[in-house]
Amino acid sequence: MGTAAEGSAPAGQVVDAHEESGTVPVLLYHDVADGPVQDRFRRYVVPRGLFDEHLGALASAGYVTAPASSLDLSETGRRPTVYLTFDDGYRSFASAVMPALARYAMTGTVFVPTAHVDGPAAWLANLGEDHREVMGWGEISEVVAAGAEVGAHGHDHLPFDLLSPERLRVELHHGRSILEDNLAVPVTTLAYPYGFHRRAVRTVARSCGYRVAFEVGDNLQRITPGSSPPGDAILRVRRIVVGPDTSGDDLLRLLRQGRRSPAVQRARCMARPGWRLVRRLSSRGASC
Ligand SMILES: [Zn+2]
Repeated sequence: MGTAAEGSAPAGQVVDAHEESGTVPVLLYHDVADGPVQDRFRRYVVPRGLFDEHLGALASAGYVTAPASSLDLSETGRRPTVYLTFDDGYRSFASAVMPALARYAMTGTVFVPTAHVDGPAAWLANLGEDHREVMGWGEISEVVAAGAEVGAHGHDHLPFDLLSPERLRVELHHGRSILEDNLAVPVTTLAYPYGFHRRAVRTVARSCGYRVAFEVGDNLQRITPGSSPPGDAILRVRRIVVGPDTSGDDLLRLLRQGRRSPAVQRARCMARPGWRLVRRLSSRGASC
């Protein structure tokens, strides 16, 4: 297992911290890779060594992991479970993330946009980062066989809140059925591309069979222990983006306290109605 993280809390304290604050720890990674990266995409790439440090810190603090689809906001007794999620299905999930997870007996959920399987991440072209590639079906089958969970990320990686009802249904339906047909596993969890959604999107997502859906948050999802979460809260669960400037100790602090990241604050701001209009006019989303 990994080295003990300096300043990490014993497992009991971790449980107490989440029960007292009523937070649900869900982390969001994108690519886990070494090598050059454009400045505007840098915050979405965690070096392999640092990712290993994160897992070591989590293990030392007593965290365990579970598939994202098992998240239940009405449940307060399963802390210190941390949910590790990975958007976009980059090849590094098979080559770097899975071996690291195996070293710590952990699991994670990878969200794959089906139109881009075994091809370049074309939605990153405006950032000059479309050389990054999405796993092929062989790799995805292998990570599922090795214990990872696969979730939906739409078909073509489009911002759902800007789509027509017809196109939205295609994205939500294809994004799930193509995964299920190719992998022969149920797919019940979804990550909104760019984190963008609204009430109508959540309604269609529910009708398409998704049970848990994730956005991008600037702090941890909060719940009130002992009370039922409101309406469709399970379809807008917040996650914290983990970037390359977060050390293992930083990660534990983040989980204990939550944090507002300026970059993610901007993404959440852009999801609001006024910014939605601006994005529609400019036909541009965020970056990942
Ligand atoms: Zn994405």
